[in-house]
Amino acid sequence: MIFNDKSEHRLCAFHLPLAVNALKLLMRFRTSLLLTSGWLAACSHGLPAPTYSQIQDTLAGLEQDYPAIAQRLVYGKSVDGRDLVALRIASLPLRESATSVLILGAMHGDEYMNIVDRLGGWLLGVSDAPWLSGFLARGHRIYIVPIANPDGYENWRNRRFRPRRNNANRVDLNRDFDVIATGEKRLTQPETRGLIELLERETASVRLVMNYHCCAGALAYPGGHYKFYMPDVDKQRHVEIARELHGILWGDIEIGDWKSVVDYTGFGIAIDYFYQRYRAVSFLYEGIRSEDRLFPHHAEAWQYLLTRVMDAEK
Ligand SMILES: [Zn+2]
Repeated sequence: MIFNDKSEHRLCAFHLPLAVNALKLLMRFRTSLLLTSGWLAACSHGLPAPTYSQIQDTLAGLEQDYPAIAQRLVYGKSVDGRDLVALRIASLPLRESATSVLILGAMHGDEYMNIVDRLGGWLLGVSDAPWLSGFLARGHRIYIVPIANPDGYENWRNRRFRPRRNNANRVDLNRDFDVIATGEKRLTQPETRGLIELLERETASVRLVMNYHCCAGALAYPGGHYKFYMPDVDKQRHVEIARELHGILWGDIEIGDWKSVVDYTGFGIAIDYFYQRYRAVSFLYEGIRSEDRLFPHHAEAWQYLLTRVMDAEK
């Protein structure tokens, strides 16, 4: 979520005594314990969230199934020692001058939506389609990071009373990117530093970024604070693409620059960094709680984005 939610554990914590009583009651009347799992699921949006190692195994499986275009990359270790992993979709041998697309999920660990972790498999499954084979044949690459904050994700998934939105050092990763407009260096955390080092090492330019969050219903383009500047031509480009996406995804998302969408300033957000570093078309997408059901719309959105946005870069 974009907002500074200082009550991230409140939902589960508030209901704990209630849950204990409910459990006793259930045991007394020998009611099925399955009902309690329904309550527990409510703490994780009701999503069947896989373990982080299952997500890594999925990426390894994709690499095996599509050896010519899928590569699993480890770009560092999280604070708690988990591998930071990305899926690179690119034709081998890699072209040195490649431009890239970056797709980020669960930078706030408790905002998993079961979208980004499915995109890699879907894209590889349709990689023979002309719009995608042509994209790869031109040397473009796609980097997908399904879980950008694995420690927060596992804490959320396991309902631990440890940081979920933030990383294990209690740092909000979506405030930990260099603030190029002011010259302020951040990248203080292994999760953000590792990601940027990977991109600097691997690709000449990032042209398109989508940072998936949940659950406010918004599509924000760069502009987190009053010192950020974007020329009108780039703003119009973002607005045009956002309107197209609005039509494809669903009908009730607010479009605007980050500051106007959330109504307060934010320094160190990822989309500001990627726009200023590469002039990338950059969006933060705030889904809704049942976003997983909209996966076909996200698939269509990516066909649109890779066709229209990247074609314009030819
Ligand atoms: Zn968020």
